[in-house]
Amino acid sequence: MPDSLSNTPLHQLTIAELLDGLTQKHFSSEELTQHYLARIDRLDSNYNSYITVTAERALEAARAADNARTENKAGQLAGIPIAHKDIFCTNGVRTSCASKMLDNFVPPYDAHIVTKFAQAGAVCLGKTNMDEFAMGSSNETSFYGAVKNPWSTDCVPGGSSGGSAAAIAAQLCVAATGTDTGGSIRQPAALCGLTGLKPTYGRVSRYGMIAFASSLDQGGPMTRTAHDAALLLNVMAGFDERDSTSAQNAVPDYTATLNNSLEGLRIGLPKEYFGEGLSPEIEKAVQAAIKEFEKLGATVKEISLPNTELAVPCYYVIAPAEASANLSRFDGVRYGYRCENPKDLFDLYTRTRAEGFGDEVKRRILIGTYALSAGYYDAYYRKAQQVRRLIKQDFVDAFKEVDVIAGPTTPNPAFKLGAISDPVTMYLEDIYTIAVNLAGLPALSIPAGFMQNKPVGLQLIGNYFAEAQLLNIGHQYQTVTDWHKHTAPNIE
Ligand code: GLN
Repeated sequence: MPDSLSNTPLHQLTIAELLDGLTQKHFSSEELTQHYLARIDRLDSNYNSYITVTAERALEAARAADNARTENKAGQLAGIPIAHKDIFCTNGVRTSCASKMLDNFVPPYDAHIVTKFAQAGAVCLGKTNMDEFAMGSSNETSFYGAVKNPWSTDCVPGGSSGGSAAAIAAQLCVAATGTDTGGSIRQPAALCGLTGLKPTYGRVSRYGMIAFASSLDQGGPMTRTAHDAALLLNVMAGFDERDSTSAQNAVPDYTATLNNSLEGLRIGLPKEYFGEGLSPEIEKAVQAAIKEFEKLGATVKEISLPNTELAVPCYYVIAPAEASANLSRFDGVRYGYRCENPKDLFDLYTRTRAEGFGDEVKRRILIGTYALSAGYYDAYYRKAQQVRRLIKQDFVDAFKEVDVIAGPTTPNPAFKLGAISDPVTMYLEDIYTIAVNLAGLPALSIPAGFMQNKPVGLQLIGNYFAEAQLLNIGHQYQTVTDWHKHTAPNIE
């Protein structure tokens, strides 16, 4: 760790810097973990970013990491305090998915990535808040209450991984996991001034990740920097035979190419991403970022993704359809919430689900069940699948001309809590992120400026399995800009 950092408070350091400090024994993981736990204890009531804090387990893991380091057996993230979105099953620790339905659910096993992080020596501080069953863009649908954006506590942090984003932005962990079905890593990363990567579908195992829409769901890292995201992805990515859609492709070292030159990189700007609905100040920030890429040697051209406007309607058939099937398992019989004194089996099912699910989840189940029902399946579900194919083809065609696609992550910065009550307006917040999930592509959101003192995100969409390239581009941008170094005001 450079001397210049030796007086920096621990919570301001990145993973890369903390790993240096731990290796050089400037501090131990136990000290670092204590430091973060004390901050959570003192400050999280301002943000509500954690649902569960696992202090004792964290300290035990920290001591184990310190011992491993002394014995030269330290894993890649030994002693680094992270948090998991409460959608990832954790053996012996409540995993609620922010729903009353799973408020009492303690899984008997770990999700694949939870195991991977534990094997790498990472210390899990706890489980972060989220929209119920990951349905939302504002983190207001959580059974445990809304999460507040550290940049402006009367605003939303984005969703559904809003707890993870707020926890990092408030420096209550150095990094966290998220999941992204239609934007839930990138959008909260954008609204909280962070780096968030949605990997290619299948790159990160979904085993033990509570299912929302299985053909879209993908876990990924949320961090302050692209470098830290590479360190996390090194641990998360890889084949897992327990997920039938897990990709067999070899996993590169994502840190190895961070310093590649961007000379000759071809960037495409989809004209549909700069149209009506985009805040002019966000557009300005994105254009300024593009200028930086040009200075770094990239060339830029306009492209078209002609089916862009179909992405949100297509998603809101497919995602609820898959959700309605996935959520049918919550019936009060096997695990989770059960209503009091059911009269009979039908009463048990209906009352359990009526009482256990929140309004947005019910809305999705209703839409999905309708879209899948006999007589409507062809008109809605099959049609949406056909549209999905066209959306994917737009990207396949675009990647014949360019290496990467750039644009805004969101049309607006963080909005006020309670400001959007109409579901369709809320759904349109994901207008630039959703098509990426429908196509199964990877995409990175990085901080690229401010609008009304709130962070603005730049989205970079890559070709299949181009995570290393996205992280390289993100890292190069972060070596010539300092947006990612800004911290929310009033962070102690
Ligand atoms: N906001 C979108 C939705 O509500 C996406 C959520 C997500 O990516 N999990 O479905």
